Amino acid sequence: MAYDVTFIPGDGIGPEVAWAARRCLEATGVRFRWDERMAGAAAIQAFKTPLPEETLQSIRETRVALKGPVTTPIGIGFRSVNVALRKQLDLFACVRPCRTYAGVHTPFQDVDLVVVRENTEDLYAGIEFAAQEPKTRQLIAQLREATGQPIQSDAALSIKPISAAASRRIATFAFEYALSHGRKKVTAVHKANIMKCTDGLFRESARQVAGTYDGRVAFEDRLVDATCMQLVLRPQEFDVLLLPNLYGDILSDLCAGLVGGLGVAPGANLGEGIAVFEAVHGSAPKYQGLNKVNPTAMILSGVMMLDHLGEREAAKRLGAAVEAILREGKDVTYDLKADRHDPSAIGTREMAEAIIEKLKN
Ligand code: NAD
Repeated sequence: MAYDVTFIPGDGIGPEVAWAARRCLEATGVRFRWDERMAGAAAIQAFKTPLPEETLQSIRETRVALKGPVTTPIGIGFRSVNVALRKQLDLFACVRPCRTYAGVHTPFQDVDLVVVRENTEDLYAGIEFAAQEPKTRQLIAQLREATGQPIQSDAALSIKPISAAASRRIATFAFEYALSHGRKKVTAVHKANIMKCTDGLFRESARQVAGTYDGRVAFEDRLVDATCMQLVLRPQEFDVLLLPNLYGDILSDLCAGLVGGLGVAPGANLGEGIAVFEAVHGSAPKYQGLNKVNPTAMILSGVMMLDHLGEREAAKRLGAAVEAILREGKDVTYDLKADRHDPSAIGTREMAEAIIEKLKN
C-alpha cells in the first residue's frame, strides 16, 4: 500500500531540506503517493495568495503533510502562513521532541524532552489593536473604566485569549502523547502568579486533566521563568513540557538550543486525525540555493511522520541512520562541524545521500 501525503516544499531553504527528507523517506521502502502543493512566496506568484485553498484542500484529504519552511515578511503583507495553516486546519497541538545526539556539539548530555505547545490561542490569536486608532482609544477607555488601570492613551494592545476548552484539549493531548510514547511526566508551564485569569485557567485545566490520568503519568506545574532557568541548569529533569502558545514558541527554540540548534530540531502540528510535519527552523533565506544547510531537522520530522503513519520499523531504521551519521560526524553539513569553516563539511543533498547509504547497510 502507498500513503497519500501532501508535499509542500516551501521557499528559501525549504525545497532543499524538504526534498532531502522526501528522498530519505522513499529510501526506507515505505511507499508514498505525494501530492505536491505550494505555499509561501512561490504560491503568491501563481495563486496571488501564500496559502492557496487547493493546498489546504489537499491536506484535508490526505490528512498528512510534509512541509518545508515558508518565509513570513516582517511588518508587511500577509500574517504568518504557518499560523494561518494551523488555524485553517485546526492543528491545535505542536509537538517538538528535543534530544541530544552523540556527535552534535552541545554543553548538555542526555537531554530527551518533548515540547507540547497549544497552537490556537494566546497572544498568537492575532487580536491586536494598533496605537492611535479610534477603536483602540475606545477600547482603552472601556478598559480603564472596567479595571481602573492607568493604560496610556497612545498604547497598542494585544489580546491574550485562553479558554478552558482549548487548555483541556492540549493537556489531554500531552497526557495521551506521554502514554503512547512511554513518557513519565508532564510539566505544565505558565505565569499564573501574574496572569491569574489566563495562565491560571491554563494551569487549572491542566491539573484537572492530570487528575483523570490517575498517576499513570506524573504531573507538575512550574512558572515559565523558573522553567527557563531549570532548563539550562538541569534539562535532564524534564520529560513532556506542556505550554500555552507564546511560551511554547519561545521555549521550543530554547530547547532546540540545548540539543545543538535548529539544524536538529524536528516538529509536527497535529489536529484531530490530521498532521503536518515540519522542522522547527525557518526558511533561512540567506542560505537559499546554496546546498549548504542541515537537512537533519526535516529528515527527523519525516521520522515522526513515519511513526504517525504506524510505520514504526521504518521510523526506527531512518532514525538510526541519522543518528549514525551524526555520531560519525564525517558526512555532515558545516553547522555540525566543530569548526564551521571546516572544508570537509558537505552539502544538504550529500548529507541526505550519506543517510540513505547508511539506511541501506
Ligand atoms: P531561520 O530558522 O530561518 O534561520 C535562523 C538561522 O538559523 C539561519 O540564519 C541559520 O544560521 C540557522 N539555521 C536555520 N535552519 C538551519 C538549517 N537547516 N541548517 C543550518 N542552519 C540553520 O529563522 P529566521 O531567520 O528568524 O526566519 C526566516 C524566515 O522563516 C522568516 O520569514 C520566518 O517567519 C520564517 N519561519 C518559518 C517557519 C516555518 O515555516 N515553519 C518557522 C520559523 C520561521
